[in-house]
This record gives sequence, C-alpha cells and structure tokens, in this order.
Amino acid sequence: METKHFKAESKRLLEMMINSIYTHKEIFVRELISNASDAIDKLYFKSLTDDKVGLKREDFAITITLDKDARKFIITDNGIGMTNEELDNNLGMIANSGSLDFKSKNNLEDDVNIIGQFGVGFYSAFMVSKLVTVRTKAYGSDIAYEWQSEGIDSYTIKECDMDRVGTEIILELKDDTEDEKYSEFLEQYRIQNLVKKYSDYIRFPIKMDMQKSRLKEGTENEYEDYTETVTLNSMVPIWRKNKNELTDEDYNKFYKEKFYDYTDPLLHMHIKAEGSATYNALLYIPSNTPFDYYSKEYEKGLQLYSNGVLIMDKCADLLPDHFSFVKGLVDSEDLSLNISREMLQHDRQLKIIAKNLEKTIKNELTRLINNEREKYEKFYKSFGLQLKFGVYNEFGANKDNLKDLLMFHSSKENKLVTLEEYVSRMTEEQKYIYYATGESITRIDHLPQTEMVKDRGYEILYLTENVDEFALKMLMNYNEKQFKSVSAGDLDIDTPEEKEEIKAKSEENKEMFEFMQDKLGGKIKTVRLSQRLKSHPVCITSEGELSVEMEKVLNAMPNDQKVKADKILEINPEHPIFEKLRSLYQADKDKLAVYSDVLYNQALLIEGMSIEDPVDFSNKISELML
Ligand code: ADP
Repeated sequence: METKHFKAESKRLLEMMINSIYTHKEIFVRELISNASDAIDKLYFKSLTDDKVGLKREDFAITITLDKDARKFIITDNGIGMTNEELDNNLGMIANSGSLDFKSKNNLEDDVNIIGQFGVGFYSAFMVSKLVTVRTKAYGSDIAYEWQSEGIDSYTIKECDMDRVGTEIILELKDDTEDEKYSEFLEQYRIQNLVKKYSDYIRFPIKMDMQKSRLKEGTENEYEDYTETVTLNSMVPIWRKNKNELTDEDYNKFYKEKFYDYTDPLLHMHIKAEGSATYNALLYIPSNTPFDYYSKEYEKGLQLYSNGVLIMDKCADLLPDHFSFVKGLVDSEDLSLNISREMLQHDRQLKIIAKNLEKTIKNELTRLINNEREKYEKFYKSFGLQLKFGVYNEFGANKDNLKDLLMFHSSKENKLVTLEEYVSRMTEEQKYIYYATGESITRIDHLPQTEMVKDRGYEILYLTENVDEFALKMLMNYNEKQFKSVSAGDLDIDTPEEKEEIKAKSEENKEMFEFMQDKLGGKIKTVRLSQRLKSHPVCITSEGELSVEMEKVLNAMPNDQKVKADKILEINPEHPIFEKLRSLYQADKDKLAVYSDVLYNQALLIEGMSIEDPVDFSNKISELML
C-alpha cells in the first residue's frame, strides 16, 4: 500500500471545504451522483459499439445505500470505473488551479459556483465525511483499487477485490455536533428529497433501498417492516418534457443547477423542432453578465446531446459569437453518437440547427423589445456590448441581422431607444441620424457640439462605449438615413443663407485663421468659423472617416501604430472672444498666438482628450490673468 500526499493546491481547497466556507453541505449528494452519471454515460456510450461491455441501457443504475449503524453513506455505479492511474490523477489533485485564485476573492455565492465548475466536485465529500473510501474497477481492467483518505493531507491506494466494473464510494460521516447534524444524510426521506431537488433529470435510475412498513396480511393492526427498492429520480430530462408540464420555476431551477448560476435566468426558450432538423433545445439568457464574459477565458457553446446522451459539453458551432451569452443545450436524434469533433464542424444537420437557433434567439429578443421593454433593457445592459461588437466584427457580415437589436441613449427621450424609433421620429427636413460620442451621458450632454443640433430640435444618440462609433460606421446607414456625428467637419445643418453668411465672414478673416493655424503647428488641420456653436467659444471637430473619438480609442489599444484624426479648431463667430481675437490680430500677434494655444487646449479638455503640455497650458492661463 502506498501513501501519497495531496498536491499543495488540492490541500488548500480541501482545507477550505472542510472548514466549510461552503455552507451548502448537501450538495455533495448532487456532485457524487453527477460523477456517477458521467461514468455511466461513458460506459453506455462504449456499449453501443462494443459488445463486450455486456450491459443494456436498462442495466445501468446508480445505487445509494444508507447504513445508519455504521454512519455510512454509500453510492455505487456501474459506470466506466477508474484505473490506478486515473484514481491517482483524478482524485489526487485538482485539475484547474484557477479555481483557487478566484476563490481568494470569494463570497458565498461564488463558492457555490466554483464547486463542480472547476472540477472540485468530488472533494465536497469531505465536507461531511471523516473518511472517504473509493473502490473502483475500470472497464477493461482485471484489477480493482481502493483509494482512501481522511481528507487532511494524504491518501492511500491499494488493490482490492471487486467482482464487477464500476465504482463504489463510501462516506463515513463526521460525528454530529451542536450545530451540524451530519446524521441527517442517513435519513432516507432527506436523501430522497435531495435527489429530487438536484438530480431529478439524471437519465439513469438512482435507486435506494427504502425501509417501509405495511399492514401484515390477515391482520387489522399488526405492522411489518419490509424493504423496497425505489427509483428516486423521474429520469425524463426536462427538455424532453412538454412545455405545459413545466413551470417557470422548473426551468429556472434546472438552469441554476446545470449552469452554476445563483440567480434566475432572464428568460428561457424551450424549442421542439421537427422538419429539416429534429431536436429539442432549451436555451437561457442569464440575468447578469458572467464575470469572465468579456474576457478571453469565456467559452461560448451549448451542451450537445444525441438522443439523451451527452456528446459535447460546449459545442461552439451551435452559437454565433454575437449570441455567445446564451446558455443551454440541444438534444437531437439526427446526430450520430460517435461523431468526432472535427466531423461535427462540417455536419449539415448541426449547421441547420445552429441557423434555426440563431433565428429563434433573434425573434425572442425582438419580441422583448416590442412587448417587454424593461426586460430587454436589462438584457441590453448585460449583453448589448456584445451585439455592438457583433455589428462591427467580421467586416459587418452580421450587421443587417443585428441592427434592429441595437439601442442608444437618446437626448430627447433620455433613455435607450432603437434606431427604428429614432428614424420614425425624424422630421422631413432632417437629413441625418445624429450622434455624439463621449465618456458618459452627462459629459456628452454638455458638449458644445451638441448645442446647435439640439437647438434645431433634432434628437441625438449618445455613444458612450468605445465600440459604438465603429459599429455605426460599419452600419453606414439605417433605413437609408446616414449617421452623422455632431462633431463631423461637414455638419450640413445650416440654411443656404446661413451658409452664405459664414462664408463671407470666413473670407474676411482668412488671414487671421491662417496665422493661428500656423502658430498651432501640425496639431490641427484648419482653423475656421463654426456653424454649430451657440454659447461656447470653441470646439474641436474632425474631417474624414476618422473621428477624434476613434483616434482616442485606437491609440489606447496596445499596439505601436498611432493614428491621427484630421482635427479642426472651430471658433464661434457670435462669441465675444471672436472680436477679441480679431483685435489681437491687428494689435498684438504674439498674444494671439498664446490665445490660440489656450483655446485649442480648452477644446481638447472639453472633448475629454488629454493635453500635451498641461504645465505650459497652466502657465499661459496665469499669464493671461495678470
Ligand atoms: P469533475 O467531475 O468536475 O471532473 P470531480 O472532482 O468530481 O471533478 O471528479 C474528478 C474526476 O474523477 C472525474 O472527472 C472523473 O474522471 C473521476 N471520477 C469521479 N467519480 C467517478 C466515478 N464515480 N466513476 C468514474 N470516475 C469518476
């Protein structure tokens, strides 16, 4: 017999489990059942192509035995079993050490999430046990092994006798204390309830010998005890049941257990399809953004079952990236059981299913926009960003599909509106869909560039996310209406008379603007009179495809290539500062140079950009104050 030590990380986790930060001790039942069911899945899968297994579908079962006198909880399965090596690898350490990093920031709900998600399920046995024994014989192996541990820092493995393939796990429960009654897990009704609660959909029977009593035959008040083997779970997976048999609560409960979320999902979609593809699907949209959703670690995908047997845990091909937030599963008879991952990617049936699911999800979201606006807004807060990336990504391949799901904050409505709603409110003379970009709604609201557009009574969409403007540029237009930034060089908002007036004034001051432009070096392309300012003296706008905001976003990205927008410094001809500039041009050109610089920097600050030389700026202001 060999004594081995748990790997350091496993030890830490074990300690945490035993000291029970994790208060939902009862979950060990679910974890052990789920492992047993996975092991049976594997052997059943084998049995379909390998006659030597010698078991039929109905032969597979999980058995729970409660031994009150010995304080033992025993769970047995006739699944695939483990070899010596697997026993050592699987139960001797934890697969994913990432779980521990995450756990250090833990709170209770996160703990619940971690169990299982990172493969620490088996360890939950130590929350309730003082000694855990695993006896197992792998399919295809002649020797059985016994793994044993008190869960402190070591375990032993030795050979043992077992007459069949499978695994038996024996938990010797801890002694009861004032606060913790471990013996509750020896009560058959308690276990019966736990199985119903957590493992009802397990597709193999979970059997338990229950002690019952009955009236003795031929007597009127004499009772006798007898043992009856009961199947505790209903086995029919929820997605195979009829919709009218199920309540929202059933769907939510299943979601929380299956996808390790502790909040109810925002919505579920239960799909039973027949026709070009036959399948059942159960899809969910979570209420909250998963903590790793917008990171590289997040893996999209749906569970894929072939006629009730799990063939892939995260089938990415079933979901487009723009709907990667959807969780759920698909069960189809059309898919071959022993299909390989590579073949699956090219499977025609799978492609049809994926297309259908995408349509269903889109329809459901559209339904929310029209009928359950509040819910859609909640959804949009969590996942709207993903839709906007979706419009932009793949060179806009999905933009038409997604454009009606987008929402932006409206200056008029002071809430999120769709593009359709915006366009439906446009007046006849309004040519463009106006938008403004900035860090926050409040900041955008105060941008000088928005003044004139608002004054004309036009609605403005406020874009606060980096990707927003890129997404709109990708869309180019909506219902033939072009998008126009309020900071665009050619705002095109004036009447012909106004245009004439500005032109004349510009001509008059041409030399002064050239002088200012010269003094500002290469920082800006032009200085000119503004058609859009009302009360503010200056602002920065841009010409061409690249806006000032896009310059900011692109330059913040981690690469060496820097881009530069063609910036324009616009001056308000109605502002007293304009007259001041004119008089300086006549009397004091040096001072005009200082003014130009200060005004340019002011415009940058208003735009939320950083200024190159804040010390110089501050000195110039002080100089002017004297
Ligand atoms: P997870 O199930 O999340 O992978 P566990 O710690 O619960 O993590 O189990 C670790 C591994 O041990 C499993 O992946 C499986 O390979 C093996 N295992 C656990 N229980 C059994 C069992 N009853 N039969 C066969 N293998 C098992």
